[in-house]
Amino acid sequence: MTQPQKQHHAFEAEVGQLLHLVTHSLYSNKEIFLRELISNASDALDRLRFEALKDDALYEGDSDLAIHLEVDEKERTLTIRDNGIGMSRKEVTDNIGTIARSGTRAFLESLSEQKAADVSQIGQFGVGFYSAFIVADRVSLTTRRADGKQGTRWESDGTSGYELSSVSEAPRGVSVTLHLKDEETEFLDDYRLRTLVRRYSDHTAFPIRMHTLDEEGKSNLEDWETINQASALWTRPKKEVSDEDYIEFYKHVAHDPVEPLSWTHHRVEGRQEYNLLLYVPGQAPYDLLDPNPRGGVRLYVRRVFVLDDSETLMPRYLRFIRGVIDSDDLPLNVSRELLQNNQTLETIKGMAVKKVLDMLEKLGKEDEEAYAKFWDMFGAVLKEGVVEDGDNRDRILKLSRFRTTQAIDTPVATLDDYRTRMVDGQEKIYYLVAENLATAQSSPHLEVFRERGIEVLLLTDPVDEWVMSWAHQYEDTSFQSVSRGELELPGEPVESADAEEPEEDELCEKIKSALGDRVETVRRSTRLTDSPSCLVRSEGDVSPFVEDLLRRQGQDVPTPKLTLEINPEHVLLQRMQQDGGRFEIWAQWLFDQASLAEGMMLEDPSAFVQRMNDLLGESADQQTTEA
Ligand code: ADP
Repeated sequence: MTQPQKQHHAFEAEVGQLLHLVTHSLYSNKEIFLRELISNASDALDRLRFEALKDDALYEGDSDLAIHLEVDEKERTLTIRDNGIGMSRKEVTDNIGTIARSGTRAFLESLSEQKAADVSQIGQFGVGFYSAFIVADRVSLTTRRADGKQGTRWESDGTSGYELSSVSEAPRGVSVTLHLKDEETEFLDDYRLRTLVRRYSDHTAFPIRMHTLDEEGKSNLEDWETINQASALWTRPKKEVSDEDYIEFYKHVAHDPVEPLSWTHHRVEGRQEYNLLLYVPGQAPYDLLDPNPRGGVRLYVRRVFVLDDSETLMPRYLRFIRGVIDSDDLPLNVSRELLQNNQTLETIKGMAVKKVLDMLEKLGKEDEEAYAKFWDMFGAVLKEGVVEDGDNRDRILKLSRFRTTQAIDTPVATLDDYRTRMVDGQEKIYYLVAENLATAQSSPHLEVFRERGIEVLLLTDPVDEWVMSWAHQYEDTSFQSVSRGELELPGEPVESADAEEPEEDELCEKIKSALGDRVETVRRSTRLTDSPSCLVRSEGDVSPFVEDLLRRQGQDVPTPKLTLEINPEHVLLQRMQQDGGRFEIWAQWLFDQASLAEGMMLEDPSAFVQRMNDLLGESADQQTTEA
């Protein structure tokens, strides 16, 4: 019985905006609200079953866990009811209304970026409940938490806010009643609802029930029947499961309306027995780069849901994987803490990782297009595994795709491809890390490689620098940065020692003394052919753009010891040597232009411009006099 006093609460601003968009946009697949509400109900049943393991009084004598759908044609309502864990009053306000959840803003942003709002994405952002307002102009939710006495009712028309009241006698769980908009009559139609449940929620592991129908198609209000399969899909033999089944189940577990790119399904038997069904999503989740993303893989123990979190079941570098692992051996009363160093779980995890890598390898072999999509979305995350999972380093590197000086447009080259293109005598895999492709492509460090036809990997992901500092080698071939240390390249040395050398060393020394502390040393380059100079770091130093990044974040970065390499053959160096009076200006300019080519920020840009102008002015003077 509802107590008289209702409290009005305003929606948090972002929730209000979200609901405004949800209620005022036109959608092509409105029916997704049903999947969202059924998913919530199913999660709530899962949670009750888990908590009841420790305290079966929570069942209150009713352990027949199920979801009921009920239509009232006269009132134009559709009710979705579960006898799951339910919510306390505080949970109601926290979860729906007052506090914007982390996905609210992300979802708003994604909606405003699209021309035609795609609301079916709502579940991805963890705000699926609000999808009720796609079809309803009023929603009321009545709930009682399994361990609570009093119930709570939440009602809203989705505009200004919601009313909250206490209910003295509410059944356990949640009952959501949608007052359908005038134009949404289809969701009062029994047949339509049955079709939708079968399409979207057939593999919800709990029974979904509706009233039976008599011969005329009228609901028999006394009788219920189960309208979904209500079996745990992952426990069924592969050959009995169709692709459509797998895809729909994915949409259910991942709250994602986009089809997965691939999946892997296994029953492992032996010392440990478990089922796993794991998917690669067809789109990147919005929180892929969050430090604490939402859970991806759900852990079950003998069909009972135990937990989903992103770190217990998958290593961080596979945090985009979705699906289910169901163990026969773990104790049912597991907790996150207990699982931390659990040997059984470690074994399962190791196998799950192996199966995921196998799946990716297969996808790479069999479907180039899908793999390219995968790599584009998740490559930068997968690469973290090179650092995180030393045991699988070579497998992850094998799965990696690269842009190179010979395959520049899209990242398609594999390290195996690269090795088949190595030139005679080449023993290393060469790479260049840069902030972006343009900087990489025009880097002076590549000149000698181009000249000798040696391919170089061009790495431009923010994680690359860190990843490469751990990679060391792929199988038995080591990696070598083209912008670090001294280079020993296969093939002809660029120049042999000859009579001019002492003079050039003298040149290097003169430049060094002009530059003072700005450089550690100055030396003749074996890298350059077209550029006058470049800057080289030592093996352990961070790259210029990481250095810049850290500085901009206010971190104290030690100045790396830079070597200026010069190309004495270059026409500008020849001119420099004839222009004794401005030697120092030339030297500073050589350094500055090399910094710019690295994508570094200049310490004193105006001084650089001044030098440039001086030097150009001079050459213009010369030309005028010559003319
Ligand atoms: P999500 O389910 O992705 O977290 P929702 O907006 O659908 O996002 O739901 C918000 C929260 O409200 C849920 O996380 C859950 O805590 C609570 N909730 C929603 N529906 C139910 C339900 N039927 N039973 C219990 N809690 C629920």
